[in-house]
Amino acid sequence: MSTLDDRLSAEVAARRDALVALTQGLIRIPTLNPPGQQYREICDYLGGVLESAGFRVDLLRARGAPGDSEDYPRWNLIARREGTRPGDCVHFNGHHDVVTVGQGWTVDPFGGEVRDGRVYGRGACDMKGGIAASVIAAQAFLAACPDFAGAVEISATADEESGGYGGVAWLAERGCFSPDRVQHVIIPEPLNKDRICLGHRGVWWAEIETQGRIAHGSMPFLGDSAIRHMGAVLAEMEERLYPLLAGRTTAMPVVPEGARASTLNINAIHGGEPEPPPGYTGLPAPLVADRCRIVLDRRFLIEEEIGAVKAEIVALMERVKARRPSFRYEIRDLFEVQPTMTARDAPVVRSTAAAIERVLARQPDYVVSPGTYDQKHIDRIGRLKNCIAYGPGILDLAHQPDEWVGIDDMADSARVMALTLADLLHGG
Ligand SMILES: [Zn+2]
Repeated sequence: MSTLDDRLSAEVAARRDALVALTQGLIRIPTLNPPGQQYREICDYLGGVLESAGFRVDLLRARGAPGDSEDYPRWNLIARREGTRPGDCVHFNGHHDVVTVGQGWTVDPFGGEVRDGRVYGRGACDMKGGIAASVIAAQAFLAACPDFAGAVEISATADEESGGYGGVAWLAERGCFSPDRVQHVIIPEPLNKDRICLGHRGVWWAEIETQGRIAHGSMPFLGDSAIRHMGAVLAEMEERLYPLLAGRTTAMPVVPEGARASTLNINAIHGGEPEPPPGYTGLPAPLVADRCRIVLDRRFLIEEEIGAVKAEIVALMERVKARRPSFRYEIRDLFEVQPTMTARDAPVVRSTAAAIERVLARQPDYVVSPGTYDQKHIDRIGRLKNCIAYGPGILDLAHQPDEWVGIDDMADSARVMALTLADLLHGG
């Protein structure tokens, strides 16, 4: 290792207790989403830590964003520390919200308990441990390299778990991720300390409704069952669409490997009468269903085009219609995200890869996420392509009971991030 690498590693090692304490401090603020609570508290807490490290801290409320209200304001933090000369800005973006606790915990989900080299709690790996690692990396870099070009930014943003519209999307719309302001983005999501996540597959959510005619259930021939129509749609999917999607594979290095094909999940189905209210003990009324709806979650590949993805479903519906004279349907778009994949020779990828090799003495794995995360907004709204996810923690533990993050993993990834900063900002 070079002298600079040694200095950076020593600065990270000297902050090991601070790294654990910061992770615990973040976990102990239960920023559950929904509803999106205590966002101001966590921004104030982290803002205090970053101000002490010489950052200028701005707290921004995403007023009017989905979910924002007086009871649950969508607060975001952006902190910036300028270098001594002009240069690029490296930005670490972490979401500060966590998902609901769920059942099956054996530790206090908001206790931040430390045991066997791990910190436990909801959000430990997804992604308060990653935020803490990036803050410690920045502190270590500033201590080892006070003379550097450009700027370091750290943001803690709201609502990633519910789409990011009160967080990164809102900030990106206000220019916070414009390429003239920020040149490199690292999102410390829990992808493991030796993997670089280049991007994600695309998403199309849609609702399909089949329509029929209501009638008495004892004389179904007088009506037209929307549920039977939907059954025909599902059969067509099973017979023709699913085999087609499974055979359509991508050059994107998606993990797990099962997600290297196009996928379709039927997220929900509903037809006929609504569920009876709790406590209702009577029988259902005999009716032919005049409406049936499914929600599709179609994940598509960078080789696919969203127009073709949608047209494929329309063509399927038209095939069913051709066989069923009374068949009527509607398709409603709910949500869509384009796939994105940062090039392997992008500067932030090259620097992070070199840092992983120096810290862990191995080549990084390059991966792509099956689902989306805030990179989608940085790519689409911010128009910034030089963005990756890199951070400590095991993705499979995210959203699970007894979520934890390893202290060694956080420290190693903080070293990688500190080396990456030194490389991109010419610290010396
Ligand atoms: Zn996350």
